[in-house]
Amino acid sequence: MTTIEHWIGGAFTRGDATRTGTVRNPATGAATGEVLLAEPADVDAAVAAAATAFDSWGDSSLSQRTKVMFRFRELLVRHEDELARLISAEHGKVVEDARGEIVRGREVVEYACGIADALKGSYSDQVSGGVDVFSFRQPLGVCAGITPFNFPIMVPMWMHPMAIATGNTFVLKPSERDPSVSNRIAELYAEAGLPDGVFNVVHGDKAAVDAILDHPGIAAVSFVGSTPIAKYVHERATASGKRVQALGGAKNHAVVLPDADLEFAADHLTAAAFGSAGQRCMAISVGVAVGEAGDALVEVLRRKAEAVKVGPGDDPASEMGPVVTAASRDRVAALVGAGIEQGAVPVVDGRGLTVPGHEDGFFVGPTVLDRVAPGMAAYDEEIFGPVLAVARAADVDEAIALINANPYGNGTAIFTSSGAAARRFQREVKVGMIGVNVPIPVPMSYYSFGGWKDSLIGDSPIHGPEGVRFYTRAKTVTSRWPEVRQSVEAAFHFPTAN
Ligand code: NAD
Repeated sequence: MTTIEHWIGGAFTRGDATRTGTVRNPATGAATGEVLLAEPADVDAAVAAAATAFDSWGDSSLSQRTKVMFRFRELLVRHEDELARLISAEHGKVVEDARGEIVRGREVVEYACGIADALKGSYSDQVSGGVDVFSFRQPLGVCAGITPFNFPIMVPMWMHPMAIATGNTFVLKPSERDPSVSNRIAELYAEAGLPDGVFNVVHGDKAAVDAILDHPGIAAVSFVGSTPIAKYVHERATASGKRVQALGGAKNHAVVLPDADLEFAADHLTAAAFGSAGQRCMAISVGVAVGEAGDALVEVLRRKAEAVKVGPGDDPASEMGPVVTAASRDRVAALVGAGIEQGAVPVVDGRGLTVPGHEDGFFVGPTVLDRVAPGMAAYDEEIFGPVLAVARAADVDEAIALINANPYGNGTAIFTSSGAAARRFQREVKVGMIGVNVPIPVPMSYYSFGGWKDSLIGDSPIHGPEGVRFYTRAKTVTSRWPEVRQSVEAAFHFPTAN
C-alpha cells in the first residue's frame, strides 16, 4: 500500500489530512494505495504556493514558458510506458488505450509549445491622427482544475498546459479514484524546469472541491465530470466571482443509415462503445439503426460484441478491462436489468462475467440491448459502462429528432455513403462534436473541445483557442506619442476618431 500525498510548492506533503480514501486495482479488486483527502487548510496552502509562484511566473517570458513545455513534452514521450501502466493499474483500462490518452493529452502540450503564436495580440495603426490601438492578453493568476476518473492524464492536460503556458499558476484536484499519475506529472514538470509552486496537486473529495470553489485566491475553475456536479461547480464558483469552464456528461448517438457499410460501421460502434469499458465521455452509448439497417446491424453487433476479449488492463491480449469500482459494476448491471424489465431486448448480456484468475475484479462484459427508447432507464441515464443500446428510427429525420430531444449534446456520429445525408445531419443536429464515418470525433488540440446542452454548462469550451481565451484577459491600449510638444485643447465631449 502506498500513501498518495499532495504536491504543494514543489514537494510532497501530508498537509493537514486526517481522512484517506482507498485506491484499488479494478482488475483484482485489491487495495493498492491510500490517498490523502485534503482539508480546506491544504487547499489554502496550495493556493498560497501558487500565488507566490505567480509573482514571477506571470511575468516570465514566452520563451521561458515554451522551453519548459518542450522539455515536458519530451519527458511525456520518454515516460509513456510507465505512465500508461500507472493509469491502467488504478483506472483498469488496457495499457494500449492508456497510451492513447497520453498521446491525446500530449497534443495539448504541443499546442502549448506554440503559445507564442496563439497569444499574439492585434494592432491597429493610425486609428485617429497619431493614435494607435492595440490589444494583448494577460494571465488571470491562480487557476484550479477539478477532474474525473476516466482520463486521469488527458483531461487534466486539457487544462494545466494551457493555463501554465499562458502565464498562470495551477492547482489540480484530480479524481480520488486514480490519483497517482497526477503526482508523476508534477514530478515531470519539476524535471522539465517548471518553478516550484506553478503546478500543485491537492487530492481530495467534496471538501477539497468546495474549498476551491469558495477560495478568494482562485481566479478561474475548470471542471470536467458528471452533469449534476458540473452544474453545482458552475453555480457555486460563478457565485464567488470566478471564471468557470464546466463540462458534463453525455449520451452519444451513432446513426447508421441503410447505405452505410455495415461491417465498417459495426466495427467502429463496437470499439467506441466498449473501449475503456464504455467509460469515455465520447463513448458511443446509443446506436440508431435507420430503416432496413436495423436487424442486419444488430446481428453484426452481436457477433462483434461477443468477440471482444475482456481481461486485465496489463495483459496485452485484453481489448477491454474492468470498470473502475465495484459500485460502478453494480450500477451498470442494475441499469441493464431495468432496461430489460422495461422492454429492451438483450442481444448480448455481459452481467455476471468473471475473468479466470481475476474473480474479484470489477468486470462487466460487453452488452448490447436492442429496441431501447426514451423513457427506459437504459436510455435516459448515462450508464458509463460497456453497454450499447440500439434504438430504431424510420428515417434520418426521426434519428435527428431523437438526438435533438436528448438533454445531452456532447458527441454524435453518422455512418453513411451519402454526402447529402451527412451534410444535413451535421447542420441540423444539436450536438457540439460530430463525426462523419468517425465514431469518436474528439477535436485536435488546435480546435477546442466542448458539447452543447447538458454536456457543457456555461459557454466555455476547453483547450485550443477557447482555452487561450479562458485563461487570459484582454487589455486594449489607445496610445498617442506626439512628436512635438504642442498644446492641445482639451475637449469635453466623448472621444471620437478624427
Ligand atoms: P464526477 O462528477 O463524479 O467527479 C468529477 C470530479 O468531481 C472529481 O474530482 C470528484 O472528486 C468531484 N466530485 C464528485 N462528487 C462531488 C460532489 N458531490 N461535490 C463536489 N465535487 C464532487 O465524475 P466521474 O465519475 O469522476 O467521471 C465520469 C463523468 O465525467 C461522466 O459523467 C462523464 O461523461 C464525465 N466526463 C465528461 C467529459 C467531457 O468532456 N464532457 C470528459 C470526461 C468525463
